[in-house]
Amino acid sequence: MKTLTILGSTGSIGRQTLDVVNEATEKFEVFGLAAARNVDLMEEQIRRFRPAVAVMMDEKAAWELKGRLRDRSILIESGMPGLLRLVQEEKVDTVVTAVSGRIGLEPTLAALKAGKNIALANKETLVAAGELVMETARAGGCSILPVDSEHSAIFQCLEEDRGSVHKLVLTASGGPFLHMTEEEMDRATAKQALRHPNWLMGPKITIDSASLMNKGLEVIEAHHLFGMAYEAIEVLIHPQSIVHSMVEYQDGSILAQLGRPDMRLPIQYALSFPERWPNPFERLDLRGKTMTFEEPDWKKFPALALAYEVGRRGGTLPAVMNAANEEAVEEFLTGRISYPEIFRTVEATCREHKVSDNRDLATILTADAWAREFAQRTCRRG
Ligand code: NDP
Ligand code: MG
Repeated sequence: MKTLTILGSTGSIGRQTLDVVNEATEKFEVFGLAAARNVDLMEEQIRRFRPAVAVMMDEKAAWELKGRLRDRSILIESGMPGLLRLVQEEKVDTVVTAVSGRIGLEPTLAALKAGKNIALANKETLVAAGELVMETARAGGCSILPVDSEHSAIFQCLEEDRGSVHKLVLTASGGPFLHMTEEEMDRATAKQALRHPNWLMGPKITIDSASLMNKGLEVIEAHHLFGMAYEAIEVLIHPQSIVHSMVEYQDGSILAQLGRPDMRLPIQYALSFPERWPNPFERLDLRGKTMTFEEPDWKKFPALALAYEVGRRGGTLPAVMNAANEEAVEEFLTGRISYPEIFRTVEATCREHKVSDNRDLATILTADAWAREFAQRTCRRG
């Protein structure tokens, strides 16, 4: 029996995690659920999965939830203090981090310090503070199991002896703008960018998939998770999203993991590891399928090259790139800036930043706050 806490239970990954739990209720106990403000879905999830604790980031939402659940014995808390208490609860053994954005960093660190294992979907946390998070995990003897499909694929293909690995190959669908011209992309609306061809995900990651910033964040995520140099991490466009990523070994052999584009598989694997459990989800049938692989268009998708450059420089720069991107994507989603302005904002913020090589939490959070403020000002100037 695994006791879970799910941060971001009302989101795309959170809901699919509960689908996985629902198919194996004898294997899981849901101890805690957390979200920002979706009270309706949180109420439904609480009635179905009966957690002991629920946290709403938004205080008003927490009050409303309390009112609706007067008939239940459940502890409902709010804000970051509530989230931090929840992840450290004695009974919890695995925390699924499925919030969107760097907001996941502090609860992830708190969970690791309390000795919890992490099923990690929240890539922004590793991008912002990869060294700190991995060191904290090592110090506490905790494991960080990847939920992101590419990293789950690599994790499944990776042999113990890292010295025999030649390179990691992250696949990318190419997103909704793969076949657009640069002129069309300049005019692209949020509605177009939100139409992902293969995956149904939350809005922020869907925009990142259109710009390939998502793949850039994933390169940095892979660097930290698997301890590989950036020179040994490659990206290939694979529009069919059948091969979820690969590992090429020194002898030329390539191991790949294949599956349907269904996040429930990597989520389940992160929760069942080292075992594999059966499930009733639809399976991949390779008959009649075609698979193609191509080099990314670096000019059309400059975010990818920027992420490599930022990752190589390290220090506070990845946190800054991530924070500026979160702000710019939000501005684009609400129609305040155009699509090309996302990259311009992120790049300008990175160029302006004075990088620090301190890797403590306070330094990272200060850099993050500076980047958000600078990116906001850049967006407003237009
Ligand atoms: P969603 O936007 O669908 O969900 C985000 C979740 O986080 C919601 O439950 C939301 O609550 C909650 N949340 C948002 N802000 C806060 C906050 N300040 N405090 C606490 N909870 C908060 O995102 P996704 O599920 O798509 O993505 C989650 C993470 O997983 C991201 O880091 C993403 O990169 C990663 N990921 C997602 C994949 C996917 O297929 N969706 C694939 C691989 C990785 P509320 O509903 O109340 O707003
Ligand atoms: Mg991914």
